[in-house]
Amino acid sequence: MSYCDSRFHTVRRRTIEVKVGGVGVGGDNPIRVQSMTTSDTQDVAATVRQSIALAEVGCEIVRITAPNVAAARCLKEIRAQIDAAGFAHVPLVADIHFLPSAAMEAVEHVEKVRVNPGNYADKKKFAVREYSDADYDRELQRLHDAFSPLVRRAKELGRSLRIGTNHGSLSDRIMNRYGDTPLGMVESALEFLRIAESHGFNQLILSMKSSNPKVMIQAYRLLVERMQQEKMAYPLHLGVTEAGDGEDGRIKGAIGIGSLLLDGLGDTIRVSLTEDSVYEIPVARAIADKAMSLWSTRNPEPATRKPAHDSIDPYHFTRRETNLLCIGKNIMAGPEHPPRVITRVAVGELRNVAKTIRHPQLKDTPAEGLLVALDSVSELAGLPPSETAACVLELPAGLTIDELKIHASHLPAGAMLVRTFGPADAATLTNFAQFVRAQKLVLAAEIEPDFFSSLGETLRELGDANFVFSLSSRSRSAGHAIGAYRQLAEALRQIGSRAPIWIRNTPGTAVQGNNSFLSKLLEASFLTGALLCDGIGDFVSIETETDLVRATKLTYNLLQGAGSRISKTEFVACPSCGRTLFDLQTTTQRIRAQTGHLKGVKLAIMGCIVNGPGEMADADFGYVGGAPGKINLYVGKQCVQYNIPQAEADSRLIALIKEHGKWVDPEPAHA
Ligand code: SF4
Repeated sequence: MSYCDSRFHTVRRRTIEVKVGGVGVGGDNPIRVQSMTTSDTQDVAATVRQSIALAEVGCEIVRITAPNVAAARCLKEIRAQIDAAGFAHVPLVADIHFLPSAAMEAVEHVEKVRVNPGNYADKKKFAVREYSDADYDRELQRLHDAFSPLVRRAKELGRSLRIGTNHGSLSDRIMNRYGDTPLGMVESALEFLRIAESHGFNQLILSMKSSNPKVMIQAYRLLVERMQQEKMAYPLHLGVTEAGDGEDGRIKGAIGIGSLLLDGLGDTIRVSLTEDSVYEIPVARAIADKAMSLWSTRNPEPATRKPAHDSIDPYHFTRRETNLLCIGKNIMAGPEHPPRVITRVAVGELRNVAKTIRHPQLKDTPAEGLLVALDSVSELAGLPPSETAACVLELPAGLTIDELKIHASHLPAGAMLVRTFGPADAATLTNFAQFVRAQKLVLAAEIEPDFFSSLGETLRELGDANFVFSLSSRSRSAGHAIGAYRQLAEALRQIGSRAPIWIRNTPGTAVQGNNSFLSKLLEASFLTGALLCDGIGDFVSIETETDLVRATKLTYNLLQGAGSRISKTEFVACPSCGRTLFDLQTTTQRIRAQTGHLKGVKLAIMGCIVNGPGEMADADFGYVGGAPGKINLYVGKQCVQYNIPQAEADSRLIALIKEHGKWVDPEPAHA
């Protein structure tokens, strides 16, 4: 059984409709956009102000934390004031961790309650102990007793519930049996689902959040597969938690949410950013609109939905096996090498590029290949030599091998030549392959996967040497470029090819592109992120962005967001909420300013310990709110300094990094 109807088209998963107040989620409803307030919930005026501000920018569902019964009680007044201000149509959701008593209070006042199955009935100790089968059954009974009153009350009042699983806060019971895994996340939710169903309650939405897009994507896929097995069709709330801020936060959110939406999964989304929550809405709106544009226009008839086999295991990450290949003088791609970065430049700019690629901002993130589209092969004569980056030359459409041979002496050493081949081009393909091999060049062949039925045998005979494959537009039989690249990977597998694949982000691969930087970032995150999380991709270019420095930085940030190539400090920062114990935005910026040069170090900054220690599972160091004005410092999952005064926390964190041998002094320019 698969988790979606098609991995080549966006075929929306059918779910039941769940009502959150007057807002329908799932079913035939559009993707709902939501966010969360960050104020102290007991500061009613501030929480009302933030809720209205969110509604005014298009937030359709507003979540508010209820960390204790007193805060949950305030939801009554918050609801009343929001109604009085003319926003009665915007449903409110109470966010509950740990306290069933707070949930029981909140359900009286708001349209939906989110519970975390990892801590609703469990006193989380972040310690794993052994559970016998009998212990486990006793735990499940305890869970049933703790959760049932909320389910019954929600049913009486017509409320809905979200079973909101977080990778970072699984119960000790689940950790013991399934570990810190997507399967553990799914089982954690299923335990709660079964209890709700035992009461005949179905107004349920599910989420499987993680700060790691790969884990999050796998967990949602697995959840859907398991629900299908159990004939459950609940809507999904999608989100990447603790994504951070700025470009990095947007990229991580778009990779996780976009990959799933294009697979047809997801009914409501939240883009978590460590920024004022109103900034989340335009990003979420743009992601939702792009995904929904595929629902109406490109859904094929069922008979044509499955154009090819798909050998990728969508539940476990394995990088596609490829051959080693070198472009330019020494840019190696393939096994053991991270995806290489290619940046597009206009031919006329090439003379200035040498200076630009020495830009200080690109010191640790160089453009490794420079892609130039040639209008005429005669332009080869004027190409300046590139000392560092490899030359990637897009040849004019229809260029013959004889025309190319006339100018062969001008081809830069190790250049990668890009040429498109149609279904009748077997002889041309052979000529080009023989030419590049004789000249010690590389051929990036743009071949639609559908054409492998005509060209596959030729490609099989030619073998992989000096070949790269790429696509700069959707194929005819795929609904989106992710599907086209999956078709390409499968077509290569079927002819036994291990040639590297180059992911090209172009106007032709976009779902619904426009010229804004946000749109370019989201489109590139969808395509590149989804493919990298599938294990596909040895070269990446973002050709929609024309500024060389921005395009190159964006590509590296995207590779880092997908966990494919680490080029700077990785920050895992929670978006903050009413539980936050310090100012997350300024703290994140301050810590980034001091540690942003520590390439490869992963730092977690968490407003409280609800999700903190767990979400920091693979962080090297953690800075976590322990109590008002007090910080706990972590090394890995281990808390090593408790309740230190916040004023000392930065220097103590740096001392800790030094103690563990991960510190280097910043270069003068950075300092
Ligand atoms: S980790 Fe951050 S967002 Fe999550 S509950 Fe704590 S303060 Fe709120």
